[in-house]
Amino acid sequence: MTSSPGSLPPIRVVSPATGELLAEVPDEGEAGVARAVEAARAAAPAWEALGLAGRAEALKRWRDAILDDAEVIRTLVAESGKLRPEAEGIEILYLCELIRFTIGAARKALREETRNPFLFVTKKTRLVRRPLGVVGVIGPWNFPILNNAADAVGPLLVGNTVVLKPSEVTPLTSLRLAELWRRAANPADVFQVVTGRGAAGAALVERVDGVMFTGSVATGRKVAARAGERLVPCVTELGGKSPFVVLASANLERAAEAAAWSSFVHSGQACIRTERIYVVEAVANRFEELLSGRVRALRQGPSDPLSGEGHDLGAATFPRQLETVERHLADALGKGARVAAGGKRRTELGGNFFEPTLLLGATQEMAVMREETFGPLVAVMRVRDAEEALRLGNDSHLGLNATVFGAPAEARAFARQLESGQVIVNDVLVNYLVVEAPLGGWKQSGLGVRHGIEGVRQWTRTQAITVRRPLLAPIERLIAKFLAFPYDARVLSVLRRAMRLLYRRGLSAKLRRPPGDRRP
Ligand code: NAD
Repeated sequence: MTSSPGSLPPIRVVSPATGELLAEVPDEGEAGVARAVEAARAAAPAWEALGLAGRAEALKRWRDAILDDAEVIRTLVAESGKLRPEAEGIEILYLCELIRFTIGAARKALREETRNPFLFVTKKTRLVRRPLGVVGVIGPWNFPILNNAADAVGPLLVGNTVVLKPSEVTPLTSLRLAELWRRAANPADVFQVVTGRGAAGAALVERVDGVMFTGSVATGRKVAARAGERLVPCVTELGGKSPFVVLASANLERAAEAAAWSSFVHSGQACIRTERIYVVEAVANRFEELLSGRVRALRQGPSDPLSGEGHDLGAATFPRQLETVERHLADALGKGARVAAGGKRRTELGGNFFEPTLLLGATQEMAVMREETFGPLVAVMRVRDAEEALRLGNDSHLGLNATVFGAPAEARAFARQLESGQVIVNDVLVNYLVVEAPLGGWKQSGLGVRHGIEGVRQWTRTQAITVRRPLLAPIERLIAKFLAFPYDARVLSVLRRAMRLLYRRGLSAKLRRPPGDRRP
């Protein structure tokens, strides 16, 4: 059923820190999505024809407009509840760095290549890279820039047009970025934002030529299934249950500091955040003492989040997420864990505030160690040794990110055995900003990657154009006898002998080997 404009209830965007209504935006529904995709499709040829240099200039103008705009930060802080250091120091920094990297990566991704065939020496094949067309980006609420508009950068630079459907919880930052895109004198239909609920996201998946989805496992599964039915490329970046492992050889001060930040950054609402901590028994007392002290010292509050001063934790963006936190907390306490810091909502602050909460004495069967919490709660479990830490660290249906602290060689060897798309050794989270490396989840944390040349080229399709080398036309007439009418038994027997010589007797390997290579 196609929705008509105005037929769906508007989306109320509420400040997580104060509960005040910030804005109402329309749910543009299927009709709005259809209009946007049609306009994006019409804009695609001119955008591709502009060439990479022209597109890079457009992206740089947009970046500069964002850097000069105070309203972006205000909006981002207001609708997400995060503090200014997280808005600026994570989201905006990331967007700038991503644009810088992706301009170079797009150059490589679009570079044409010649492949010379071994068998058909008379041919050469040219690989041409073309954009997919219109890419649909669907984002979650926790990072309104980093996991929403930033995911348009790669597709745009290689020549696609983009329609972004941000989360209905935090759509205002995306609308501001679309406004700045237009103010930067960029073609409006090349990057559009459509606001709406889940059905608008589903309508986008129905129409676009490629999908970049970030969100929960449950929705990601639906999106990937539908994209699969439509046979359009789809990248899904989904949930995490990232383990943080403290080996006996770890620097415990540094590990505790890193565990506190990676567990409670943006009130624990980050996909690659630390979700569960395993500490080796021999150093557990000291590590728990250090971490408890650090978590108790965290300052939480709504006052003047824009100044960036005075607080370490803001409000939780999505009220329903705190229900998960409370459920995991109650389950853990019922199964024997104890609270070392925090433990309750802070209703006196007026918004969605929950104390940064640290649990000790966790065991693997607790929900807090198994399901994504995605809020200001983390639990520590003691393990006998590194072997047990590895077994429990890998005991998850998710595999997005992992951290290990220990002596460098030991920690690096441990990292290689973790079942996780990303591992960071003796540090936390900053691997997200290593945009040179592909980033994606293993297991049910998703399919495909963002970042790296791999995360850029996937928004192109390759066309292989094979042509005849004119000078070799006489040889081709000989070869062509195998593959042309009329078929001939004598030609076939020559082919059979040639195949034996080439493959069975190894002539093909000798012919391909570089001069001087004497390997058997
Ligand atoms: P969600 O799955 O509820 O929603 C994500 C987006 O999908 C929203 O824009 C929503 O409107 C849209 N949507 C809902 N139903 C849809 C449908 N049927 N078809 C298409 N789109 C639909 O996720 P959320 O609660 O907004 O985000 C939190 C989740 O995102 C967490 O699990 C978190 O780990 C994950 N996340 C992952 C990464 C990553 O890079 N792996 C990054 C950030 C967040």
